[in-house]
Amino acid sequence: MSTPRFKLAVFGQPVAHSLSPRIHRLFGEQLGIDVDFSAIEAGVDELPDRLEAFRTGGGTGANLTVPLKSAGLKLCTRVDRAARRAHAVNTLKRETDGWHGFNTDGAGLIRDFDRLGIDPAGRRVLIVGAGGAVAGILGPLLERRPERVHLINRTAERAHRLADKFAHLGCIHGDGFESDPGSQFDLLIQSTSAGHAGMLPAIRRDWLDNDVDAYDLNYGAAHQDFARWCREHRLTCHDGLGMLVGQAALAFEIWTGQTPATDAVVEQLRSG
Ligand code: NDP
Repeated sequence: MSTPRFKLAVFGQPVAHSLSPRIHRLFGEQLGIDVDFSAIEAGVDELPDRLEAFRTGGGTGANLTVPLKSAGLKLCTRVDRAARRAHAVNTLKRETDGWHGFNTDGAGLIRDFDRLGIDPAGRRVLIVGAGGAVAGILGPLLERRPERVHLINRTAERAHRLADKFAHLGCIHGDGFESDPGSQFDLLIQSTSAGHAGMLPAIRRDWLDNDVDAYDLNYGAAHQDFARWCREHRLTCHDGLGMLVGQAALAFEIWTGQTPATDAVVEQLRSG
């Protein structure tokens, strides 16, 4: 039996329903690369031992998902700029001096924007939420030079802190839902996890232009309430499946040096 060329895994908790194994197998098939990709359940305390066991078993690359992205940072000998800025890693690659860490979430979103023809340059961007995912997307988003970015979050203090941290990269403000964010926005990024609990953040339609692009980081069941809200307000919205595939494609490139095409994989996931 031939040995797989790349032994890879996603670590998280819960991780059983992660789409990453399927996505990376599809990338491998597309590029003719032998990929052995598993899902490994691990909480923050178990991560160091589980990762070491994976490495001694031949593991050379990993994705980290909730709740491990910050914890993973401490296990790296080097991290890229995106991971440093976000204070979180979602991709690890084994090198001779240890694990190198990367954050491909933000670049994955921008890759999906490019796929969908959404250009953030010169746009007035409203981001709802100020959690770990927003920390990952702000750097790559601000590098695309939007006119301004407004973060609005249930816990206002978290939005203030994140806006201050990224203020050197562009025009960005943060606040709570009770404040009026001001003039109308033409790009809305829904970044809360409210949909996982069947809830909807209190977004007001009058904050948005008529021809706003709406993008939800969530996909599947967690996207449904926001999708319904958009339909009721006659807004076109995109789910975060393309971002998921986009960040995975960048991780795949880091591990294998080969760039997979994402369109076909997004379609394959949508068709079940
Ligand atoms: P975090 O737990 O770090 O942050 C959650 C955010 O959601 C916080 O801003 C929190 O506000 C807000 N929130 C939660 N519940 C509510 C609610 N009922 N009403 C209003 N706001 C609420 O999560 P992440 O930032 O890591 O992830 C956010 C979402 O994005 C998740 O659903 C995740 O699945 C998705 N995601 C998708 C990716 C993709 O590739 N498509 C990649 C990464 C994440 P507060 O600060 O007040 O608690």
